[in-house]
Amino acid sequence: IPVDPFDLVIFGGTGDLARRKILPGLYHRFCAGQMPEDARIIGAARSEMDDKGYRKMIGEALDEFIPHTKREAERVKLFLERLHYTPIDAKGDGGWKTLKKLVRADVVQAFYFSVGPALFGDLATRLHEHEIATPESRIVVEKPFGRDLESARALNKVLADSFDEHQIYRIDHYLGKETVQNLMAVRFANVLFEPLWNAQYIDHVQITVSETVGVEGRGAYYDKSGAMRDMVQNHLMQLLCLTAMEPPSKFDPDAVRDEKLKVIRALDEVPTENIVRGQYAADDEQESYIAHSENPASRTESFIAMKVDISNWRWKGTPFYLRTGKRLRARMSEIVIQFKETPHSIFGEDAGSHANVLVIRLQPDEGIDLRVTIKEPGPGGMRLIDVPLDMTFADALGPEGEDVPDAYERLIMDVIRGNQTLFMRGDEVEAAWRWTDPIIDGWQSRGDRPTQYEPGSSGPEDALMLLHRDGRRWREIK
Ligand code: NAD
Repeated sequence: IPVDPFDLVIFGGTGDLARRKILPGLYHRFCAGQMPEDARIIGAARSEMDDKGYRKMIGEALDEFIPHTKREAERVKLFLERLHYTPIDAKGDGGWKTLKKLVRADVVQAFYFSVGPALFGDLATRLHEHEIATPESRIVVEKPFGRDLESARALNKVLADSFDEHQIYRIDHYLGKETVQNLMAVRFANVLFEPLWNAQYIDHVQITVSETVGVEGRGAYYDKSGAMRDMVQNHLMQLLCLTAMEPPSKFDPDAVRDEKLKVIRALDEVPTENIVRGQYAADDEQESYIAHSENPASRTESFIAMKVDISNWRWKGTPFYLRTGKRLRARMSEIVIQFKETPHSIFGEDAGSHANVLVIRLQPDEGIDLRVTIKEPGPGGMRLIDVPLDMTFADALGPEGEDVPDAYERLIMDVIRGNQTLFMRGDEVEAAWRWTDPIIDGWQSRGDRPTQYEPGSSGPEDALMLLHRDGRRWREIK
């Protein structure tokens, strides 16, 4: 279904994110027929360039980031005609008058802040001062949204000086993933799961986001961040909230976000013994974390695992184990709902027993996998095995295999439609920092050092112990 006509201004339109994700995503939406005839995309960045130069640059980006089987020369040409460019100085007055003339007042206006976080406030203020934005314009703010509670509050305040909350779209691309939304569908559109979705039937939950890449060229940035700020405070926290929240009364932005906020507020403080921090070492082929840091004594964590308790009726006694890291064995993101075993086995110990597991896979191969226990086929008596009831979205979409839209393209279309459900509200972000800050402050005041771990492993041994000591184990990273 096409959206309303729009002007989408991408500040930082020449940057890595714009070239790698935002514009290829928009191209896909264009091919899907979702972009109305007179929709326009306006790149705005520091470089001096005209429309022609920008179209060339983005044409090359599409060549690089979209597989050639999904690129059709004629379509690419038509898409590129939608692109415009204007140089802009976020820190000064250069370019703003031209931008004002360029953006139409009678279509949906969206301004995507795909620039470094230090410029978010400047852009909001300048859009307001130059009277470019209208009360209905939308701004899309990239991560990171602050680096602690104080800076997030300050940023919320600067944005609020120029825009209402209903105009601000704080992006967390994890929320745009098909499976993440399917998690809500599975929970709230089936009668099967929700009655069991609590501490009485769920033993524990695991949320893993594991990457194989290291920090490479981003060492200087990452050193000021670390896994806690870069991944846990936002992405893992959002996944935890969607898994743990109460059913909202409707699928409406504030109803959903109110419930997520309640989860964050119900999180217990995490004692030190429930947190494991790691930093990857070197191996024969790859350099260590430290090799890419400007600080040879850096204490920044590239891995974190933690046990989190939620103090409310639904979850008391059911821990959520979170884990994320770089340079691990495989690239994999998943939420694992580990159900309890049946209260009594009628088949006896020899039959074996398997508790049900629901795995919500975000990458690779987005899908949902429910493991159920059945009898081992054959004449060997009553022996139990667990088998997957698998739903991979590529299959569910039929043999033609219509592509599952990438998170960015879906989220940008939501911005144009004015739907904030999958974007973080200001109070949610602040609440998440309020929970994270004391943990980070504790490490700093004690001078805690992360444990070194082997590249290509599943993180430090201590992370395995975090579950072992509770009689549990992580699902393998593979
Ligand atoms: P980048 O450094 O590749 O691009 C920055 C862009 O900002 C360029 O287009 C540059 O011209 C523009 N810019 C810089 N200073 C400017 C100024 N004074 N006035 C106007 N424009 C200016 O950065 P990126 O990797 O594309 O990241 C952009 C944002 O997206 C950042 O907030 C980053 O944290 C976030 N982000 C990036 C990625 C990614 O994969 N690259 C992933 C998630 C979030």
